[in-house]
Amino acid sequence: MSKRKKYKPTPPFKQLSKSIDWKQPFNDYYPLKYSVREGHEFYRSDEWVKTRDEFKEGKDLKCCKCGSRDHVCVDHKLPLRRFWQYRTHPYNLQLLCHKCNKKKSNYTDYNILREIKDKIRLDTLQQSWRV
Ligand SMILES: [Zn+2]
Repeated sequence: MSKRKKYKPTPPFKQLSKSIDWKQPFNDYYPLKYSVREGHEFYRSDEWVKTRDEFKEGKDLKCCKCGSRDHVCVDHKLPLRRFWQYRTHPYNLQLLCHKCNKKKSNYTDYNILREIKDKIRLDTLQQSWRV
């Protein structure tokens, strides 16, 4: 059995993940640009593999844009390297086929950002009602 290389976050990653405060999701845009290599490393990490598998669990694996079942994978709605704080958040994930994933460029759709933040805000509200 080959052992997967353990993913070690580089210092800026570490700092950032520590500073994420889910109660204050307004600080949402990091102008930091991680290197492509660092982005790729994340996709090999246990953190991502776990997130991805949990997201796929129990779902009908088809593309949310076109319905195709061809090479469906879990995609980040917001670019990973800019929205590092949402890297494992289920609201930022979607199932895309190979084609649609390729078509999608790495730009930031602010409607999606607003949508995700609204959902998170609602969750937070509902949690406070329950207390
Ligand atoms: Zn598709």
